[in-house]
Amino acid sequence: MELSERIANIQPSATLAFSNRAKEMAAQGIDVLNLAVGQPDFKTPSYIGQAAIKAIEEHEADSYTAATGILPLRKEIANHINEQHGTDFGARDVVVTNGGKFALYAVTQALLNPGDEALIPLPYWVSYGEQIKLAGAKPVLAHPSQGLKVTVEDLEAVYTPQTKLLVLNTPNNPSGEVFTKDELTAIANWAVDHDLVILADDMYGDLVYNGTEFTSVLDLGEDVVNHTVLVNGFSKSYAMTGWRVGYAVAPSNVAAALGTYLGQVSGNMAAVSQYAALTALTDPRGKEEVERMRQAYEERLNTITSLINDLPGVSVTKGAGAFYLFPDVSEAVELTGFQSTDEFVNGVLEEAHVSIVPGKAFGLDGHVRLSYATDLATLQEAIKRIGDFIKRHQ
Ligand code: PLP
Repeated sequence: MELSERIANIQPSATLAFSNRAKEMAAQGIDVLNLAVGQPDFKTPSYIGQAAIKAIEEHEADSYTAATGILPLRKEIANHINEQHGTDFGARDVVVTNGGKFALYAVTQALLNPGDEALIPLPYWVSYGEQIKLAGAKPVLAHPSQGLKVTVEDLEAVYTPQTKLLVLNTPNNPSGEVFTKDELTAIANWAVDHDLVILADDMYGDLVYNGTEFTSVLDLGEDVVNHTVLVNGFSKSYAMTGWRVGYAVAPSNVAAALGTYLGQVSGNMAAVSQYAALTALTDPRGKEEVERMRQAYEERLNTITSLINDLPGVSVTKGAGAFYLFPDVSEAVELTGFQSTDEFVNGVLEEAHVSIVPGKAFGLDGHVRLSYATDLATLQEAIKRIGDFIKRHQ
């Protein structure tokens, strides 16, 4: 059958492809270490699962809910956001979706027209560009002129009168970089001056390390808030990737449009997961659990950064958030005689049995992304194997 042009234009997710290859190898009995996927190695806290079981047993989760989600969850999300950022959102401004991924998709569908341009700073999370294309709009990449964080000048260089939306993801997947308050303020003010929508992906906002302060665009005052649609979810902070709970918080007219859209496209996301998410937010143990996981990621980051920097031809700036590092391996690729970063990464997988993702998937060749949402012993062994691999090919 002939596929639509819309879908034929879409690239499959590279992170899933590398992770799936690692799983296939593991199924063949190969001892493969998978650092390709952004999947917390922690279990969902058990009291959250218990709340879901209770919702099932008491038949609370049997029926359709509002397409935008159950009212108590939307209220709690609004309270949580208001407490964190001093905003004034209500339940009507919140829509609950099938993961943050679908919230991002719904927002691009609700706000972009064919011919619109949407700015994506590099390096970027894999799905933004494809979702923007699915809305018929054009993804426009903004290259950081220095390091891994864009500035106003970098954005200005690719701005056109067709630019409608700016994606901002801090802490960043794949780089682990976090915008300082000053950096973010300059960018947000620039976006407001150009009357852009800021699509803020704060998915890793709870995961910052070594005293780094997380600033969200929602912290930057009313003008910025009125130009912002926030996307967040429970996958990363609460180790709930499988439950698929995300949300968007938006000015009321956008939230209403998202509600209409969800009502036609998906209906509500699974009611049982909504009850689980409600408990994640309201149970007093929630904050402790998030902090316990944050501390574990911090310890790993502090241990592996220098190990990675000791690898021949590899350099990495220490990440400040999320659970990814994005080392520059261009020298190692040269040293080992591989033709490209992709070939180097394939070699690492097939020979050293470590799965990482080439930077090209995130728009920046010469880098690789590795996730440290994996126990420390596995991370140390993986880095050792990569070191041995480089030395063997030198
Ligand atoms: N945004 C970023 C930056 C991510 O890394 C992810 C997941 O990897 C998501 C959004 C979507 O997360 P989910 O759909 O699990 O809520």
